[in-house]
Amino acid sequence: MVEELAFDNTEERRKVRQNGTGWIEVIVGSMFSGKSEELIRRLNRARIARQKVQVFKPRIDARYSVEEIASHSGQKHGSNPVATAAELMSLVSAETQVVGIDEGQFFDMEIVDIVNELATIGKRVIVAGLDQDYTGKPFEPMPQLLSIAEFITKTHAICVKCGGTANYSQRTVESDARVEVGAADKYEARCRSCFVPHADSPTIHPD
Ligand code: ADP
Ligand code: ZN
Repeated sequence: MVEELAFDNTEERRKVRQNGTGWIEVIVGSMFSGKSEELIRRLNRARIARQKVQVFKPRIDARYSVEEIASHSGQKHGSNPVATAAELMSLVSAETQVVGIDEGQFFDMEIVDIVNELATIGKRVIVAGLDQDYTGKPFEPMPQLLSIAEFITKTHAICVKCGGTANYSQRTVESDARVEVGAADKYEARCRSCFVPHADSPTIHPD
C-alpha cells in the first residue's frame, strides 16, 4: 500500500485534479532501472481509464525514429518521434489528457517551459529520463524538470558487478560523446562503489 502510494500518488493526484489544472510527474534513474516500464505502466492505466493519451520521444537517430517507446524487457507503447520540444508542443491536441515523454534527457531546455504550460492548461504530463550522464553528471533538462514536478519517482537498477542498488550508467565502450545511443551493448548498471566515473579510465573493466 505504501509502495503503491509512492509510485502512484493516487490521493494527491485526485486532489490536484479537483483544482482544474494538470500536473507533472517525473521518473528518473539509471539505465535499466525500469523508467520506461514504469512510464508504459502509467500510460496503459490511463488508457484503461479511457483517457486520451499522447506519447512523444526525441528523434535523435534512426533507432529512435521507430514509432514506439520500448523497455529493455520488451514492453512497448506507440509514440511520436519529435525533433524539438516546440514540435512536441505543436502536436499536442486540445482533447489530450495525458502526455507521456520518454528519454527526456535528449530534449532541449525549452521542454521545461513546455511541460509547465501543458500542466497549467490541464494535462497530466509524465516525463521519464536519465538523471545522470555516463560520467555521473546531472543530465539537463532532467534536473530542471525534477525541480518543477509535483511528483517524482526514482528508479534503481541492479548493479551487474555486485548485485547492489545501481544508480549509475557505466559506459563500456570508448567514447567521449555525451550522447552515445545504445543499450546493454554499450552500458551497464553499476552501484556507487562499482561505478568508474571517467570513461577514459583504464580501470573501466576492473576485472
Ligand atoms: P530504463 O528505461 O530505466 O532503461 P527499462 O524499463 O527499459 O529501463 O528496462 C527495465 C528492465 O531491464 C528490467 O525489468 C529488467 O528486465 C531489465 N534489466 C536488464 N539489466 C538490468 C539490471 N542490471 N538491473 C535491473 N533490470 C535490468
Ligand atoms: Zn556494485
